[in-house]
Formats: sequence, C-alpha cells, structure tokens
Amino acid sequence: MSGLARRDAGAGTTAKTGVNAGIDIGGTKIAVLIVDRDGLVRGRATHATSVGDQATAAPAIAAALDEALATANLQRDELDAIGVGVPGRVDPVAGHVTLAVNLGWTDFDLRGALENELGRPVVIENDARAAALGLHRRRAATGANGSDLAYLAVGTGIAAGVVLDGKLHRGTRGLAGEIGHAIIDPEGPRCACGQSGCLEAFASGPSIARRATAAGLHATSAKDVYAAAVAGDATACELVDDVGRRLAWAVHLLVMTYDVDHVVVGGGVSHAGSAFAEPIHRELERLRAVSSQAGELLPAHIVEVLPPEAEPGAWGAVAVATAIRVPDRPRETEVVRHG
Ligand SMILES: [Zn+2]
Repeated sequence: MSGLARRDAGAGTTAKTGVNAGIDIGGTKIAVLIVDRDGLVRGRATHATSVGDQATAAPAIAAALDEALATANLQRDELDAIGVGVPGRVDPVAGHVTLAVNLGWTDFDLRGALENELGRPVVIENDARAAALGLHRRRAATGANGSDLAYLAVGTGIAAGVVLDGKLHRGTRGLAGEIGHAIIDPEGPRCACGQSGCLEAFASGPSIARRATAAGLHATSAKDVYAAAVAGDATACELVDDVGRRLAWAVHLLVMTYDVDHVVVGGGVSHAGSAFAEPIHRELERLRAVSSQAGELLPAHIVEVLPPEAEPGAWGAVAVATAIRVPDRPRETEVVRHG
C-alpha cells in the first residue's frame, strides 16, 4: 500500500487539530516548531546536538519534538502531521534518506523509523527544498504576488530550492537546485563531490574558513572570518567580498535559469548579517549596471537576505507537513508523494 493511501485511510480516523510540527535537522542541531492552522507558533525547541547515527536518530528527534510539545502543552497525538527537513538526498515518496553525507546516513528509512517512534504521519523532504516551499507559502499568505521563488541556502553546504508555478520543483532525481556543485571556476579548489571549482568549494562555511586559514587568518569558522572583516582586517574583507561575488553569481544563475520573481538567501553563513549581505548586493548592482537583461530580470527588490531569526528550515518542514494534509491542495499532495 502506498504511503499516500495509508495516510488517507488514517486521516479519517482522528479529528484534525490543525496543529503540525516542523523539524529541521542540521549537522549540529535539531530545531522544532509547533504551528497551528493560523500559522501561529504554539511551541518550539532547539537541541544543539547532533542527530546521531541511523540507529539513534529517531529517539533523538522524538526527544526534541517532545520538548517542543511540552512548551506548547500538547501531546504527540494532537499533531496532524510532522514534517522533517533533512540536509541530504531524499526520496519523499519512499520516505527514505538516500544519502546525507554530513549526517553519515545512507538508504535510511527515516519516515518509517519516525512513524514507529512517534505514531503520527511523517513527511520528509530535503531541507533546502522544504525551506523554499515554506517561504513561498508564507509569501502567498501575506498576499505577495508571484508564483516562482528560489531559496539559496549557504551553510555547511550550498543548495537551492525552487518553487515554480506554486509547486516545488524537484527534477527527475529530486536534485533540482543542487547549485553548490555548479562549477564556477574549473581551476578552483577540489570539492568534496570530486569536481574542482564548485561554488561550494569557494563559499560554503567550511570553505570560507579553510580559505581564510590558507590566507594566514586564524579562523575556525566562517563566523570568525566575517567578524574579522567587520573589525577591518584587510584579508578577511577581501575574502568575504570574493564570497559575496560568487554568491551573487549563484543568485544570477538561479534567476537566469528559472526566471523566478523572488530570490531568498539564508543558511548559517548568512547569519553574519550585513557583512555577508553587502558584498552580494554590491556584485548584483554591478551586474545590473552592465547588462540590461540582468537589470530587468534581477531588480534589487527581488533579492532578500533573511534575518538570522527567520528559521526557514523549520518553517519549511511545517509547510511540508501541511502540504499533505490540506485537501484543497491536491497538486501539492501529488508532488510530495509521487515526485
Ligand atoms: Zn562539488
């Protein structure tokens, strides 16, 4: 029996509460939001610990969820569904995480493990894809125009999620938006994927720290590098300018490829604030000035760098949970369940 059929059968047996949970799994943390049907946050929790290996992941996620439920004064069985965003390759139909390099997971039936642990319907999705869907839903809820959106996440890795015509665009293998592995300089550093000169090898958090160290700075993280730039260190300033240029090219590439009407930039590295955002905006301004096409397709107001408190991953996971449960969005159900 397919997951969709099983879930539809289950949906009739319990009254809906309109309350869903979104769980964002990162390399070093688990963030949970409990959100009601009006989009209001009822509870939240952040565990600053690794989710662990495949054997211990479900109990670790359940512990974080229970903590959030306690802040909301709710029980597990009062949740309609639970959405989970995973930093890796996901098969949302099978409910499997095919590969999550940073978590050390391979061919992991995460949905099965969580449904056994929690006794509630679970939907899993790639984290950047989920975040794009959530950002799109929130913009739609605020009455913003536009059916197309791209989200560029810059953190431990770099990935994008793309919503086209109001629907999450996955591509044939669920990998649409893997822009971190677009080659932007074939002479560039070796990437973990095996290619040389991928965007991620220049501008992910670990790459920024590595490049800073190679340039003689004492930096253990991208955060250190941005702090040094803010303090006026010339080497750090040069490096964050270079990172900003390359990320601006990624924004440009997303717009030129998909002709989206909104591009959102977020992820852990973006939490450096204006030191992160300004070099991106400067380069976009330069691109606009030299190309009328860039000027037309990439006006200043379509690019938004999220504030650190935005939590796009957890909101995206909520959106994924909501998507399979809302009856007047059958196309969404189809996307989630059948690719
Ligand atoms: Zn790569």
